[in-house]
Amino acid sequence: MIRDSAREFAERTLKPNAATWDREERFPTEAIQEAAENGFLGLTVPEQYGGAGLGSLHAVILLEEVNRWCAGTGVTLSVHNSLICGPIAKYGSDDQKQRWLPQLAAGERIGAYCLTEPQAGSDAASIRTRADRVDGGWRLTGTKSWITTGPDAGLFVVYAVTDPEGKRGNNIGCFLVPAEADGLTVGKKEQKLGIRASSTSEMIFEEVFVPDADVIGDSSQGFKIALETLDAGRIGIAAQAVGIHRACLEDSVLYANQREQFGKSIGRFQAVAWKLADMATELEASRLLVHQAAALRDAGQPCTKAAAMAKLHASKACNLAAQDAVQIHGGAGYTKEFQVERYYRDARITEIYEGATDIQRLVISRHLLG
Ligand SMILES: Cc1cc2nc3c(=O)[nH]c(=O)nc-3n(C[C@H](O)[C@H](O)[C@H](O)COP(=O)(O)OP(=O)(O)OC[C@H]3O[C@@H](n4cnc5c(N)ncnc54)[C@H](O)[C@@H]3O)c2cc1C
Repeated sequence: MIRDSAREFAERTLKPNAATWDREERFPTEAIQEAAENGFLGLTVPEQYGGAGLGSLHAVILLEEVNRWCAGTGVTLSVHNSLICGPIAKYGSDDQKQRWLPQLAAGERIGAYCLTEPQAGSDAASIRTRADRVDGGWRLTGTKSWITTGPDAGLFVVYAVTDPEGKRGNNIGCFLVPAEADGLTVGKKEQKLGIRASSTSEMIFEEVFVPDADVIGDSSQGFKIALETLDAGRIGIAAQAVGIHRACLEDSVLYANQREQFGKSIGRFQAVAWKLADMATELEASRLLVHQAAALRDAGQPCTKAAAMAKLHASKACNLAAQDAVQIHGGAGYTKEFQVERYYRDARITEIYEGATDIQRLVISRHLLG
């Protein structure tokens, strides 16, 4: 049911518009609202808070369909579900769940995740955004970089240092900040290579007051929450890679059957046919890794290694597929007449955000070596 309704939404709303949004760098507000009406913004939110109460496996099935047609919309939904609704549902107080989850599930507020800073990317524990203790809460000061949905979000999950003298990784808190908070402004908007229908910006915090009621968990637990949340996020980005990969394969098969050279369709040449065979096989492998990681998470099993493996494999395979898709399209693939040009640009980010490829290798190898 989820696959059918996601596919219907993607083909009806994303397919005809994705190229325009990409060209115009337009955040698809109406499409995101339509996704909310379909229940896609509260997929994993418990039913008592207005969500569908489903799991990671449902989420990745949805995300593959959405990313098949628009990776910009795909990342917006992935971040919202996995990095915003996820930690509030898992670590939030009853009061936080009651106040925020219904608004997030209804799409009244889209979520954004603020961890990265100019000097803290892969080394996220080295963030410098400060949370200073004040009467009744905390004041946040600092700059966050590359924030997906930053300019269009209604609620920010923000990580900041609560104890500058404290032990690295145990001195960070996790804060909920609504977009209208005094002192919170949108900084530089990024002009990106791909996923241009998603908005990305710096977010600047100048003494933003956060009441104690909006601290998630203990004020030293934030980094643990950030990393645990990223397991779900990585599974979501791996699903994004599967969606883009499928787009590359489907469009390439179509083109290889239509385009004729030397008196026959180019798909009849072994060099092209074998590319398609490899692309299809890698796609299945990626999807199975993604589904396995999601199923482990749903079963409450450790999934950090599985999530890293899914993201590592799916993102690399997706980039190879995008490269081959452009090659199969020849000169046409290098123009905006064909969508593979966009898939090629969109694919690139899957190897960078929510932990770059080598960081996934680091996570996997640490599990192997201890
Ligand atoms: C479009 C976009 C959207 C994003 N959205 C968000 C968001 O919503 N919220 C958020 O908090 N962040 C977001 N990010 C940030 C993203 O997660 C970081 O860009 C990513 O983690 C990499 O950090 P960095 O860019 O600082 O690269 P760096 O950490 O500087 O890495 C540069 C290179 O060095 C390599 N490297 C670094 N350390 C090691 C190591 N120990 N071993 C081997 N290689 C290493 C990396 O693999 C990479 O190839 C987004 C980024 C982009 C581009």
